[in-house]
Amino acid sequence: MGGDIVVSGLALSLRVAPCAHICRYCSIEGTRRATGLEFARFELLVHRFLDWKAAHGRDDIEISFFVGPSFDYDIDILRGVGRLRARLGWTFRILNLGGLRTRNGAGLESWLQERQAAGIEGFHASFAGCGEIHDRWNGRAGDFAYQTSILRMGGERGMVRHERIFLAQNTLPVIDRLLDALEHIPGEVRDRYACPFFYSGLARRHESERITEDIRDTLPERVRKLRLWKFGEWRSEREWIPLMKEKAGLPRKVTLELNIGEANIDRIEALSCDEIFAEKEQECRENYRRMPGIDELCTRYADPNDRRIYMLDSDLERKWMDRHRLATSSGAPSISS
Ligand code: SF4
Repeated sequence: MGGDIVVSGLALSLRVAPCAHICRYCSIEGTRRATGLEFARFELLVHRFLDWKAAHGRDDIEISFFVGPSFDYDIDILRGVGRLRARLGWTFRILNLGGLRTRNGAGLESWLQERQAAGIEGFHASFAGCGEIHDRWNGRAGDFAYQTSILRMGGERGMVRHERIFLAQNTLPVIDRLLDALEHIPGEVRDRYACPFFYSGLARRHESERITEDIRDTLPERVRKLRLWKFGEWRSEREWIPLMKEKAGLPRKVTLELNIGEANIDRIEALSCDEIFAEKEQECRENYRRMPGIDELCTRYADPNDRRIYMLDSDLERKWMDRHRLATSSGAPSISS
């Protein structure tokens, strides 16, 4: 069972901005819940870990953070996220529209102006089809019109945009309509890429919606051009198998997850970074010891006849773990997204 792991990072997360969507492909659990914890305490904690990493020369560990699950932050939190990103050497100029509450008229205008004044240069939007198909995938009537109206308002004010397009059996037939609609929105498109759903969270229920090798190999040029960077690695399960076997003997690279909220902040603040890290690492090693290694998963659960398309090797690992749980009725822990 199991296999060794190499810990390559620690990701701190704070759920402070509940999500207003109910996407059928969502990877995150409990997106409507939010903690009442002050952002300032979370910010201090991230700084403390960054100081610890520098003081101990832990170049092997990447400290990262996530404040979510949506980016519907109030302006103070938005500035705070900007400060933390700057400390990591990153910028914070693009705001994700996923999960944004509905605002209209003057309220939407002032929301946008306030963010632009705070240094936000543009938006990232995800589309699963267009019109009602997108609305159904995202769990909110009128969402396609809402998201495109924000992109339009931003474009008219000189803001840029990034677009992700989910390809599925029922979004493909309307992709020309979607691309036509997006191309009529003013403003610079910094990037536009297409990808299948991750195999994670709720999206695991929609395997019948996955595109297949045949569909992938006969995509029109307009869509094929949207296969970019790491998002362009579209392989079927049968195509992933030899690649997964090649790295089966290597330790899994994992990022420790530390979710911060009202329930644990006092305890976390009272511990040293060394203690927290050691505790999370041990917990993670124990979890992985209870899981089959990749070679075992591959041998027992991979389907060499499955031609459905996945983007990441971790998608397959999660899928095989699900088959393992089903086959053994085991409570084996989940592989994080
Ligand atoms: S916007 Fe993102 S976090 Fe919210 S439900 Fe959709 S996928 Fe999940």
